[in-house]
Amino acid sequence: MEHNLPGAADLADYLVDLSNVVRDRSLGAPGARSLDRFRLVVRALVRLTGDPDVPVYPVADASLLGGSREFTDPRDAATLRRWVEEGLVEEVGDADRRILELMEMTSAAHTRTVTGDLLTGHRREHPWIQGNTDRFLKPVAGPSGSVRLVPLDMGVRTEAEISRSDELAAFKKQGLLKGSQQPISAVINRFWRCPERRCSLYDPRSGRVLLPRMLRGVPTCEVHGRPLADAGPRPAMAQLKAMVDGGCAARYTVEEGSRTAVGRNPADGIALYGLLAPKVAARISREHVVVSTTDGILRVRDVSTYGTRMRTADRRGRPGPWERLPRDRDRRFGLGDEVELAPGVVLTRSGRRFPAELAAAWRTGPAGPSAPPEASLPTSLR
Ligand SMILES: [Zn+2]
Repeated sequence: MEHNLPGAADLADYLVDLSNVVRDRSLGAPGARSLDRFRLVVRALVRLTGDPDVPVYPVADASLLGGSREFTDPRDAATLRRWVEEGLVEEVGDADRRILELMEMTSAAHTRTVTGDLLTGHRREHPWIQGNTDRFLKPVAGPSGSVRLVPLDMGVRTEAEISRSDELAAFKKQGLLKGSQQPISAVINRFWRCPERRCSLYDPRSGRVLLPRMLRGVPTCEVHGRPLADAGPRPAMAQLKAMVDGGCAARYTVEEGSRTAVGRNPADGIALYGLLAPKVAARISREHVVVSTTDGILRVRDVSTYGTRMRTADRRGRPGPWERLPRDRDRRFGLGDEVELAPGVVLTRSGRRFPAELAAAWRTGPAGPSAPPEASLPTSLR
């Protein structure tokens, strides 16, 4: 089988997300990790292409060998280690990221990848993944222990789903996800304070509140490595995005119990005129809508001169038809819903549950799992 491993990505016709395949319990023999699943995938590629020498380049997360005791057959870990040493398998910190990088190289324009991962957290950086049906193959169990490869329809993930996936990746990076991929809410829902006197990394007044890093089950300061002290509950919040001509022009945070006017230039609230051409800004009232939050629910109310349209997303995030908002009446403003103040000027909600200031610190995080739609936090506004 090793003759199928040329040891160089540009010699391969297929990349394999090795960690994803080796951990896929639906394939081959039972157990947490099995290299045999990879052998079954290579056999399936031979059948699919009719080429017994089909060249394959596997990419593995470092965590795959790190947890070598989880292999059902201990010889698997030794084989894998040898393959990494001989360059037949590439071991990297973040396999998803590396695979996408390889797929974008011109020499690899036709390379396809075997994976079951929908790569939701990578779609902002690699928009071509959205709706792709021909560059990914998913291994599925075939008759009598074999594996078949079927084209993986990547589908189109909504902005809210991608944001939520980013956020889960950030939690994962800080050690704030439990095994079930649920955030540890007892830590995330509170503010923390570093015992180092000059440290303001976790101070809510600094406007830039980092998530604590979990070290051996204890929230710890990123810089000073000291255990953090509890500094009280973190208020629930939601993020609004101002979309101008389909692009995100600005993000705003609203907190539980707040009431925020949004318009061209409200006396107190979110002013949009700086984002808009004068002709567009003129169609928006000084105070156009009011966004308020009570009991963890975000609501929007039209208070404009020329009216506001809204469309509501269904449970999968697909938008319904545009309707005109009744004036001076609150409407629930859920994830995926869109509020149009003027043509091309739309307010929507980010799937993120924490302030935008964190986003920059989080962006460097490794790829997260695709977000379970039922994931929710007590701190998030519904
Ligand atoms: Zn500190």
